[in-house]
Amino acid sequence: MTTPTTSRILDGKAIAAAIRADVQAEVERMLAAGGRQPKLLACLVGEDPASRAYVASKTRACEEAGVAGETVSLPAGTSRDELAARVEAWNRDDAVDGILIQLPLPDPLPEREILDLVDPAKDVDGFHPVNVGRMWLDQDALTPATPTGILEMLRREAIPLKGCHAVVVGRSAIVGKPMAALLLRQHCTVTVCHSRTRDLAAVCRQADLLVAAVGRAAIVGPGHVKEGAVVIDVGMNRIDDGAEVERLYPGDAARRESFARRGYVLTGDVDYERVRPKASAITPVPGGVGPLTVAQVLANTVKASRRRQGL
Ligand code: NDP
Repeated sequence: MTTPTTSRILDGKAIAAAIRADVQAEVERMLAAGGRQPKLLACLVGEDPASRAYVASKTRACEEAGVAGETVSLPAGTSRDELAARVEAWNRDDAVDGILIQLPLPDPLPEREILDLVDPAKDVDGFHPVNVGRMWLDQDALTPATPTGILEMLRREAIPLKGCHAVVVGRSAIVGKPMAALLLRQHCTVTVCHSRTRDLAAVCRQADLLVAAVGRAAIVGPGHVKEGAVVIDVGMNRIDDGAEVERLYPGDAARRESFARRGYVLTGDVDYERVRPKASAITPVPGGVGPLTVAQVLANTVKASRRRQGL
């Protein structure tokens, strides 16, 4: 990659809108072919406001794209057996194509055990071991929405991947690991970093494509980025310290106003203002990876539905 003159801002909102439009066209084709409307069932346990907001945005996006969306809200005290019985009933319900268990589940619900109960054919989050295994084996699978959405964005933005060195910071089951698997499938040379990585900055500086999925505000600074790298910021962090907002976004009136109104601003894992001049392309937070994740859940639901209906 060459030294950039200006960095390209990858507009996740616009790309997500294009993905949703494709989903809607696909639903119309399915209906024209005699199929039924795909349906996503989102299960929310407890009252976590962030989880509630995520589920609401997914259900809203469903409606706009012609996918039926149902949210089942259960009280925080729901037992393991009650939740398991619900999941098993949704597995048997032919009208349900996608099941989404909003994480985190409140304590003491066993998250992994519940996720493992979801029928792999309806596992639109791609978290079931069958789908994880199929993904690593390069077989057709439902793959996690966030990394799949990122790949879709890179494809639509014509960012070449073959042979490039991709460094993924973070090794969670929902972002880092599947991101690594999907980039490997695109013929990247992939390095995965985590909390025990020695000299994180030096490893990151090797990246042509740098994906940050850590959950720590501005952990990736200009010293972590090679000139001309593509930088994807998955992180979603709240900063509630005004001085830190000013340090990260000096003179940014919109952020200052947002901070005054809400008492916090959302920021990524990348020190955006300082990294942007070095990157050839970069995703902002908000408006980058977040909207792609929601759009990709819909795309996964339609994929699951098409398969289940034999279309
Ligand atoms: P996890 O907490 O599950 O994983 C974080 C990863 O970062 C771990 O692998 C951890 O390493 C690594 N890490 C922690 N500290 C360091 C460090 N100092 N140096 C290097 N690596 C470190 O988080 P998630 O993967 O679930 O999410 C990551 C971020 O992405 C969060 O901000 C989350 O909110 C956001 N997110 C955004 C989404 C979106 O749609 N935009 C969707 C999903 C997540 P170790 O394994 O060694 O502990």
